[in-house]
Amino acid sequence: MTAAVARLVDSHCHLDFPDFAGQVPEVLARAEANGVAHLVTICTRVSEFDKVLAIAESDPRISCSVGIHPHEADLEPAVDADRLVELARHPKVVGIGEAGLDYYYDKSPRERQRQVFATHIEAARRAGLPLIVHSRDADEDTIAGLEAGAGKGGQYGQPLTGVIHCFTSTQKLADAALAIGFYISLSGIVTFKNAEALRAVIRTVPLDRLLVETDAPYLAPVPKRGKPNEPSFVRHTAEFAAGMFGLSHAEFAARTTDNFRRLFWKAAVQ
Ligand SMILES: [Zn+2]
Ligand SMILES: [Zn+2]
Repeated sequence: MTAAVARLVDSHCHLDFPDFAGQVPEVLARAEANGVAHLVTICTRVSEFDKVLAIAESDPRISCSVGIHPHEADLEPAVDADRLVELARHPKVVGIGEAGLDYYYDKSPRERQRQVFATHIEAARRAGLPLIVHSRDADEDTIAGLEAGAGKGGQYGQPLTGVIHCFTSTQKLADAALAIGFYISLSGIVTFKNAEALRAVIRTVPLDRLLVETDAPYLAPVPKRGKPNEPSFVRHTAEFAAGMFGLSHAEFAARTTDNFRRLFWKAAVQ
């Protein structure tokens, strides 16, 4: 039986990375053939934002974000929340980030990472857009930063919303993020054989708080593990996760796509 292809969203990929140079139309065609209705190409350096935006502007199925990855926090020229809010006014910009803390690689000093993260939290609230959070080996400080940002008063703008992208952290971070209204995004890692501890955490996430992503070009899911990742592969992650929750692929795709629309309200998902 060839069921109608379920409509999915790849909520996080990096189409501006050299891996995809000159290939975006082909990547989109393969994504479309696998039911990917929309994708968000994620900014990691504000100094490269124009390139990211140009990719988003090249096709109605692509949105983008604006922000500084924690790896780049020390190298990028400083930006303040005003500048992020101004760039986020563009209709193609649907989220702030990716921003956060990465104490596994520690590519930028931790104090600098925390400062840049706080700036993005403020910008997300003032822009009324979801914050796309990258967190690795930094649960305590991620929770502290998010709770502090969420706890600021109304003069800071809209309530803080967002997603912990490529979730690989502990139950503690999942619980804290869910408690302040955040979503949890599943990458291909959830399909890996040795990821049983991660799957145990993911099974506790309510179905109305889950998103799916590739984080392409990294971390291709099983059965594409080891290959360069691309947005069409989000289908494998979604099919696997549907099985974890005892749902059909169509049902799981519909739920995560609804969740995406609710959180990323500016994205024009066809
Ligand atoms: Zn990331
Ligand atoms: Zn990323």
